Amino acid sequence: MSDSVDTQISNYYDKLLKRNAGEPEFHQAVSEVLESLKIVLEKDSHYADDGLIERLCEPERQLIFRVPWIDDQGQVQVNRGFRVQFNSALGPYKGGLRFHPSVNLGIIKFLGFEQIFKNSLTGLPIGGGKGGSDFDPKGKSDREIMRFCQSFMTELHRHIGEYRDVPAGDIGVGGREIGFLFGQYRRLSNQHESGVLTGKGLAWGGSLVRTEATGYGLVYLTQEMMQTHGESFDGAKVIVSGSGNVAIYAAQKVQQLGGTVVAMSDSSGYITCPNGVDIDLIKDVKEVRRERISAYAAEAGSGVEYHAGGNIWEVAADVALPCATQNELDGDDAKLLADNGVRYVAEGANMPCTPEAVHYFQSADVNFAPGKAANAGGVATSALEMQQNATRDSWSFEYTDERLRQIMTNIFKNVDKTAKQYDREGDYVIGANIAGFKKVADAMLAQGII
Ligand code: GLU
Repeated sequence: MSDSVDTQISNYYDKLLKRNAGEPEFHQAVSEVLESLKIVLEKDSHYADDGLIERLCEPERQLIFRVPWIDDQGQVQVNRGFRVQFNSALGPYKGGLRFHPSVNLGIIKFLGFEQIFKNSLTGLPIGGGKGGSDFDPKGKSDREIMRFCQSFMTELHRHIGEYRDVPAGDIGVGGREIGFLFGQYRRLSNQHESGVLTGKGLAWGGSLVRTEATGYGLVYLTQEMMQTHGESFDGAKVIVSGSGNVAIYAAQKVQQLGGTVVAMSDSSGYITCPNGVDIDLIKDVKEVRRERISAYAAEAGSGVEYHAGGNIWEVAADVALPCATQNELDGDDAKLLADNGVRYVAEGANMPCTPEAVHYFQSADVNFAPGKAANAGGVATSALEMQQNATRDSWSFEYTDERLRQIMTNIFKNVDKTAKQYDREGDYVIGANIAGFKKVADAMLAQGII
């Protein structure tokens, strides 16, 4: 590594830290990408031309707004809404909305930044964005959720559109919330513009497979990674952390492919289930009744145990799929997993592994697929939903699932090939960052200094 590229990158990063103080998750996401870009700049210095890297790290537009709503007791509540429109060089801004008390500008910026590269890797025409609110949907009634969504959309509607910015779900935003958001958008715009949101209900512009897509896609990509090492899910023991949308459908696909999901979790604890997870029961507990995973353990019968407040990464497995939230798996957890024999880790959530965990996996020869590649199936299927909306068509489950499978296979091949091109075979972090970056960077350079 030449001193000049090293200095150039650390100068960018120092400036970014000053300009974006107090946003540790954003710093973490940028730092990982900049680290990967060093070897690109060594080979192709033109990628540093025209302030390209600084422009890539600065969102095109950042919206912060007040979201007042009235709770069931008649009290006024005030939350903060965000939409970060990060990069539209490849297509309209695209990315989910997260409703969770931990949401702040730094979290939305880290997610929006990751989304640029993830969306680029899908090969589909979508830019990167993200939004959300510090609203906590837990314990709220359906009516409270509706009033909150209506207030949120009353501001957001003027900034989105099928050619401008297309939000979707993320943590705390599923089919119910997308319904309320879409209803208010339709009312305010006086148009049934189905392409403005994805994750819609099937009767009003939604796509089959969108619900399953992030989890299924994660497993398709992991399967591809395992195959390059002559292994498969058949007979494999798998930990799936979390029990939300990504985790449930990842677990379902793992078991369809002959693997056993031996543990799942929520923010209060984890369950062990040596004989596998009962998918119908976990769906009923989490999706229909919206209860905690402890309720699953109470009803699941023999062999299933609930570990209140425990660490899921203590469980022995061949494959770990962290599907809960950012930084849920640290360096110590990575060591525990590797010592217990884990050979594959793929991120279903966005940035669930800390930098220490990623370095540990790589040094211990555990195959590691980063979220940008591994969880891109959700947003890719959102782009397929947009295609169906644009042509007023709706595709079958089989056809859409096959498109998703092909997209995930192509992502893995592209990431693997890019890592090899830069003499870093098996380093899927470098492969994903560089392959995602180049497509966006080429588009930005072609489109001038904007
Ligand atoms: N929230 C998902 C993600 O992190 C999906 C976004 C979308 O479908 O637009 O990629």
